[in-house]
Amino acid sequence: MTAAPAAESPVLDLSALTRRYGSFTAVDDVSLRLPPGARHAVIGPNGAGKTTLLNLIAGTDRPDHGTVVLDGADVTRKAPHRRSRLGIARSFQHPVVIGELSVLDNVTLAGWPHHPRRRGAWRSPSRYREHTESALARLETVGLAPLARRPAHTLSHGQRRMLDLAAALSGAPRLLLLDEPAAGLTDVDIERLLGVLGALPASVAVILVEHHVEVVAELASTVTVLAAGRVLVTGPTREALTDPRVREAYNGTAAATAADSGPPAGAGKVAAAETRG
Ligand code: ATP
Repeated sequence: MTAAPAAESPVLDLSALTRRYGSFTAVDDVSLRLPPGARHAVIGPNGAGKTTLLNLIAGTDRPDHGTVVLDGADVTRKAPHRRSRLGIARSFQHPVVIGELSVLDNVTLAGWPHHPRRRGAWRSPSRYREHTESALARLETVGLAPLARRPAHTLSHGQRRMLDLAAALSGAPRLLLLDEPAAGLTDVDIERLLGVLGALPASVAVILVEHHVEVVAELASTVTVLAAGRVLVTGPTREALTDPRVREAYNGTAAATAADSGPPAGAGKVAAAETRG
């Protein structure tokens, strides 16, 4: 008799995560398991706890209860820079860009902490060149290579978003956290963003917090809906977006209305994330 294949180990395993601010519970007993390469969206009304959840995963905030496990290692008490080196990358709601530096320098700098010989690697011209070339390659993947020498402050909001993304991809992350990447983008920039995110390697798992339901439907194969800090629904994108409880949670806002018509074709490509508890 052949043994059944072992279930794929999750890249991220959140167990009973809870964060309280005084008597207010922002994230309440959230458990979630994501397989490698997951494309998972976290949605929910304003104040539902989405950004707090990302903070708990990235380590910029600590839970009162529960654990964050990355690739089998408990990182709950690890500092953000250590989690970053272990493979958690993040792109913020407001792109983090150093305006005085060139576009290329921004990405080169973001990559230093991930360089295997980062202490003093900059003193070796060949290593420095190699590092800069890989930064340039990342700029190419987001369409910014022609602007590499421009000061970053000359970029449009959409271009800054792409630069922030290129910086987040330094160090070949295992898990990419995206906090409202489509916020403030024009339709053209959203199309570009969808192209870049859609072409990310399958080795990178993505958690996307996003209010644009069309972006969620296009990119995510699974969705968790948070409401008042708790998991309301988790499942394949189409089912989650059309769940009547989601409409109730949004109380007739645009997201719930768009969910009624169902996600466009293309959603639901990756195997379902599992939730526990
Ligand atoms: P939005 O969609 O508006 O960005 P969100 O779902 O990301 O909302 P969070 O930013 O995670 O929500 O906030 C969840 C709740 O926790 C909110 O009511 C917020 O006011 C509260 N909160 C977040 N951070 C703190 C803090 N440091 N101290 C007190 N309350 C906080």
